[in-house]
Amino acid sequence: MNKKKNIAFKDYAPQQIMLLPPSLEELIEPDHPVRTVKQVIEQINLDPLIANYKGGGTSSYHPRMLLKVLVYAYLRNVYSSRKIEEAVKQDIHFMWLSGMSKPDHNTINRFRSERLKKVLKKIFAQVVTLLAEEGLLSLQTAYIDGTKIEANANRYTFVWGNAIKTSKERIAKQLEELWSYTEKIATQELKDTAPVTFEKIDAQKVKQTIEQIDQALKDKPVDKKVKQKINYAKKNWEKNLEKYSEQEKILDKRNSFSKTDTDATFMRMKEDHMRNGQLKPGYNLQLSTNNQYITNYTVHHHPTDTLTLKSHIAEHENLYHQSPQTVVADAGYGSQENYQWMEEKNIEAFVKYNTFHKEQEKKISDNPFLTENLFYNPQQDCYYCPMGQPMKKIYDTAGKSLNGFTRHYSAYRAVNCEGCPLRSQCFKEKGNRIIKVNHQLNHYKTKAREKLNSPEGILHRKKRMCDTEPVFANIKHNKNFKRFNLRGKQKTEIEIGLIALAHNLTKKAA
Ligand code: SF4
Repeated sequence: MNKKKNIAFKDYAPQQIMLLPPSLEELIEPDHPVRTVKQVIEQINLDPLIANYKGGGTSSYHPRMLLKVLVYAYLRNVYSSRKIEEAVKQDIHFMWLSGMSKPDHNTINRFRSERLKKVLKKIFAQVVTLLAEEGLLSLQTAYIDGTKIEANANRYTFVWGNAIKTSKERIAKQLEELWSYTEKIATQELKDTAPVTFEKIDAQKVKQTIEQIDQALKDKPVDKKVKQKINYAKKNWEKNLEKYSEQEKILDKRNSFSKTDTDATFMRMKEDHMRNGQLKPGYNLQLSTNNQYITNYTVHHHPTDTLTLKSHIAEHENLYHQSPQTVVADAGYGSQENYQWMEEKNIEAFVKYNTFHKEQEKKISDNPFLTENLFYNPQQDCYYCPMGQPMKKIYDTAGKSLNGFTRHYSAYRAVNCEGCPLRSQCFKEKGNRIIKVNHQLNHYKTKAREKLNSPEGILHRKKRMCDTEPVFANIKHNKNFKRFNLRGKQKTEIEIGLIALAHNLTKKAA
């Protein structure tokens, strides 16, 4: 029979009183990221942040301590102020950073939403400059990309620009019908009235017109349905148009906004778990990275990347008092306006345009019927079609982008397409073929193509993919930051600033 071996347990005496209790300092591992947060934030000049404090009254928690706690919380994926309050009471890393102070969630929230407003960018820029001085990144090359992040807003309380337009058109049409009816019934009463137009209506105009109609139809035998319509119009139209006018101001060139966060726009997100393409309220986050560090961030409520590039680079200038020498971005940013603006600023642009990849495909580059493959003679300002017919300029035209940038186009027409044996392959419309060309954009596309296909361009294109994309993957998947916790553009920018600081310091610590 086997004899049972002695069982030995390690000493366990939780009630043991220590003669010299350990300090928090010695409990923190030497290479723990919390030490990087502390060491970096200690070097930052917080004068702009301290200037936000008015003084007087009771004492405040030190902003340096609160900033360290917040950055470390974002580093640890703790975004809720209540969870941060819990952590400063329970987690030795937070307790070490806060020096055992225990700010509550209201203090943490107020500090994050109010005190950091307008100053977090300056703090972030100081941290990035420190990292650049250490040789960890360069501010000369910016790899730019964007992603959509869902807003902290209700997905089902929306306002659509098109719906406002349709409602206004409907009111205008019904008002015109009422006016025509009144002109028939009360011709005499309206004979001295100035002619009324209905293309553009507003609350004031509707009010005036309804009053005129009401006055003119007084004592007249009016159809019951018309009477009902006038009563409805008096009750609702002016009020509705005032509401639409307010909503149009909030829209500010967008097509939608959420009623619970009016800065958020409905956009298509990459994360579409329902796979139904549902638009969700969100923000367009633009990041510049270098060596996988975030060097610049901006939050936009317009979903189109093309419209964000100028203000994003302008923010880089604002933070570091210089433009990046080189900008590398994907096809979402290649517009005439952006190319021209970067050229004026002497920025070397490795920026694709929307057809860059397509035109490398054989079926595109070998297709002689495509406008971009037609031969152009600049001296004669004339194109030649695949049959060798000259296509002469017939007119110049211009269009404006959403940013107000003017783009010029020239139209060219073939002389005679009737009976051409290539007609069915060439184009579908009736008459002779007309093409519209933006010469300036073509000039920038040619330059961009040469740059992107140069050895330097190929290197930048490869680098862009492994520079910005892992940063977005880290934010969304490792940091699980897929939805903002705060509302409004200003506050979402603070959150992204904290995420960016946390990302950079995690990378530095690693
Ligand atoms: S259809 Fe007209 S434009 Fe096309 S190849 Fe023939 S002549 Fe030229």
